[in-house]
Amino acid sequence: MSAFLHSRFSDLEAYTPGEQPRDKQYIKLNTNESPYPPSPAVLAALTEQDVADLRLYSDPEGAALRAKLAKLYGCGPENVFLSNGSDDILNFAFMAFSEDGAVFPSLTYSFYPVFCDLHGVDYRTVDLNDDFTVPVERLKDTGRLTVLANPNAPTGVALPLKEVEAIIESNPDHVVVVDEAYVDFGGQSAAGLIHKYDNLLVVMTYSKSRSMAGARLGFALAGRGIIQDLEKIKYSTNPYNVNRLTLKLGEAAVDSDDYFRKNAAEIVETRTRVTEELRALGFTVPESKANFVFIKRDGLDGGDLYRKLKDRGILIRHFSDPRIADWNRVTIGAPEEMTAFLAQVNTILKEEGLL
Ligand code: PMP
Repeated sequence: MSAFLHSRFSDLEAYTPGEQPRDKQYIKLNTNESPYPPSPAVLAALTEQDVADLRLYSDPEGAALRAKLAKLYGCGPENVFLSNGSDDILNFAFMAFSEDGAVFPSLTYSFYPVFCDLHGVDYRTVDLNDDFTVPVERLKDTGRLTVLANPNAPTGVALPLKEVEAIIESNPDHVVVVDEAYVDFGGQSAAGLIHKYDNLLVVMTYSKSRSMAGARLGFALAGRGIIQDLEKIKYSTNPYNVNRLTLKLGEAAVDSDDYFRKNAAEIVETRTRVTEELRALGFTVPESKANFVFIKRDGLDGGDLYRKLKDRGILIRHFSDPRIADWNRVTIGAPEEMTAFLAQVNTILKEEGLL
């Protein structure tokens, strides 16, 4: 830290992204990326002219992409907001809608408390039930910005739409953010409710089901008022927040929606097999509706499993939070990657005398 940093940030504990190692080729099951490349149409969309046009700023309104997303989700372009990854939208939401504080589950996306600390937001958390479901009653009538990842991370557990709607309905005077980063893998989206509730902000990303984490493209769906608020923050920070290439590739991806839905279905199929096989090996695996599973095995320390797999060239995600020290989050990769993962887990269990 330099002597120049504003004292407001001296104790800020920044978010820790998952490892992106360069030392060797790993089977990478640690950051919930897709094992599949974007659709061939996304690659084909890029021309030499696009590179030449990089001399020009991108369209700050992202009009063409917004129109396509609006059509796909059955709303108007005035209901769509584009951003540089969905983290950007979450950042804006915590900045814009937290005057009365914020509330979210205690076990969820670990960036939420960081955004709160960054913006000096008073926040409280609500413990999940023992089965990792969200205690819906405790998120009703909160009197604060209410944030819900659905499906949740790192558990993968999803809340039925009816219950999400009950949370939105009970908080008419505050924004309810539904972070749907993983919704395409079996969750129920709240996107259809944006016309019914002016306090609903649905946040989505191209990073998971659309295989474009590196393009950094996120979008939000909401009533016109909330979108205008987000635009105000955007135009006060970085008007050209989505670059030209990403806008263009994002349009091609919307045109290939069927391709991405097919990939998501394959990931769901692989997830079912992995869940069954892990349970057969004695793991506890909550039912996941995301592109990852959250796993624990009695007798096996979570950190040990992470390290042993890393030594064998397989990266999974272990969190420093002591409450989940026994657990690991494992991204669902390609079928052959998961076969290799399961084989190594089997070997480790045998070496530890647990099989
Ligand atoms: N929400 C959740 C729940 C996530 O797990 C992630 C990925 N780390 C994000 C949002 C942000 O994703 P991105 O910025 O890549 O869109």
